[in-house]
Amino acid sequence: MSSNISSKTNKKVVVIYSGGMDSFTVLNRALKDDKEVFALTFDYGQRHVKEIEFASAVCKSLNVKHKVIDISAINQLLAGSSLTDNIEIPEGHYEAESMKSTVVPNRNMILLSLAVGYAVSVGAGQVYYGAHSGDHAIYPDCRPEFVKKMNDVCQIANYEAVEIFSPYLEVSKTDILTDGIKMGLDYSKTWTCYNGREKACGKCGACQERMEAFNDNNVEDPLEYEA
Ligand code: ZN
Repeated sequence: MSSNISSKTNKKVVVIYSGGMDSFTVLNRALKDDKEVFALTFDYGQRHVKEIEFASAVCKSLNVKHKVIDISAINQLLAGSSLTDNIEIPEGHYEAESMKSTVVPNRNMILLSLAVGYAVSVGAGQVYYGAHSGDHAIYPDCRPEFVKKMNDVCQIANYEAVEIFSPYLEVSKTDILTDGIKMGLDYSKTWTCYNGREKACGKCGACQERMEAFNDNNVEDPLEYEA
């Protein structure tokens, strides 16, 4: 997965980094691409606040500039997601209808907008974004048609054009993990579970998708799961 032409002229990039395995891989991909990374983590009051702790620890160990931005105030406008509200986190597979309760309205468009604003502020030419095909089914704002149009808008929204770069847009989480393993990444430094307990639950959609990716790669997940 190589970067494109415009990225070669500007080494600064913003990476939207949640602390999960996808964006962890994207972050390391950007470093491998020899980018100067400005990592950006959003705290939108999600239950899996553990992700943020993992993100901070990784950025510290990699010596990457990192901002954690509390945007939980916007939840007053975005009601109804089990990730932020007092609704039970559904168990089961990611593609199941019940997982729709984990959709935060317009989340990625909001996060990308903020990231692009940050990119313009620090003079970065790209925002690295870890959307992948496994999310396409239930999250409309992870689909290629959304990312493409958002990217178009970001060319003209400011005096400086910013590119939304999604290296894994057309591939699965399994493929992301394959690339990360090739890079020699340590996935014990990532948190995926939607429930922020001491060990990963192994039952929520996020855990199931993670376990599937490790299974598909014939690699053991270094994370501990609840029995
Ligand atoms: Zn879980």
